[in-house]
Amino acid sequence: MELRKDPITRSWVITGDDVPDTAPRSEVCRFCADTSAQAQVVSSRPGGPGGTWSTRAVVHPSPLYHIEGEPARRADGLYDRMYSVGAHEVLVENPQHDRHLWVATAAEIEQFLLLAANRIQDLKRDQRFKYVSIFKNYGSNAGQEFEHPNAQLTATTFVPRRVLYELRASRDYFSQKERCVFCDIISQEMRQNQRVLEVGDDFIAFCPYAPRVPYETWILPRTHDASFERSAITRSGSMRELGAILRRTLQRIRTITEEFHMVLHTSPNALHKSESLGYWKTLDDDYHWHIEILPIVSAKAKSYTFKEVYYSPVGSETAVARLREAKIES
Ligand SMILES: [Zn+2]
Ligand SMILES: [Zn+2]
Ligand SMILES: [Zn+2]
Repeated sequence: MELRKDPITRSWVITGDDVPDTAPRSEVCRFCADTSAQAQVVSSRPGGPGGTWSTRAVVHPSPLYHIEGEPARRADGLYDRMYSVGAHEVLVENPQHDRHLWVATAAEIEQFLLLAANRIQDLKRDQRFKYVSIFKNYGSNAGQEFEHPNAQLTATTFVPRRVLYELRASRDYFSQKERCVFCDIISQEMRQNQRVLEVGDDFIAFCPYAPRVPYETWILPRTHDASFERSAITRSGSMRELGAILRRTLQRIRTITEEFHMVLHTSPNALHKSESLGYWKTLDDDYHWHIEILPIVSAKAKSYTFKEVYYSPVGSETAVARLREAKIES
């Protein structure tokens, strides 16, 4: 597998002929606390009821990116290609096989969020990596790989397309108004109060004005910060509130559909010696980290197959009303 750049959209894709996985499928879960399968543990957090760890990061059993080597970016006529150098980890959310984010306690989710923050911070010390992504796919239509509660992490030598769009747009907005577009969105959403799902001391959850899919929901810190990991590590206690709001939001969404994609958007690696370093000068002021949840409403699969223009047949105002009224535990 290698990385190739689309010269029109300037986005990188990972491509090549995949070798079919012929290894026998094991019956035991390789991520459970008492598993017999050997995992390559990268990092773990202590504690957990009756366990030695509460959450941990392991190397992905069949990684898309490999940690050794240099990307060796090179030309191929007008095209660009490079080796798929990077990190690919599974973040095991909980030692228990059935303790998903919507049933775990806020304290357990806090540990998972702190693990994620530590992994991002650690990988950003590697100057080869421009971006660290954390995402979760739940449900077969979402491309879920393992049953055990998990999210995945990739550290890449490029910034993923969607984040790049956001970074460019945030920079443009800032250069015109000297304000963060996300901070402005938060204040308008709070003022209008038509799409807000929940407001806490440190976080807000709302359905975005122009959703890509029905019931799309974003969670943002109310205090400006471009970097999730800095926020998580310096504002101790805030991750427990985020854990609670995440748990409730997923409970609400699960009253509509079980399947979803979730992604964390944080600042790129500012340590990276980039020729376009000027580009990052206002990064701390113009970008604002957040979590996006994209539920999969299967009956409306149309919005997934025809992506030239997003089609979302439930308006944000209707979506938020249904999610707010959803009966949840807490
Ligand atoms: Zn398991
Ligand atoms: Zn902001
Ligand atoms: Zn985003």
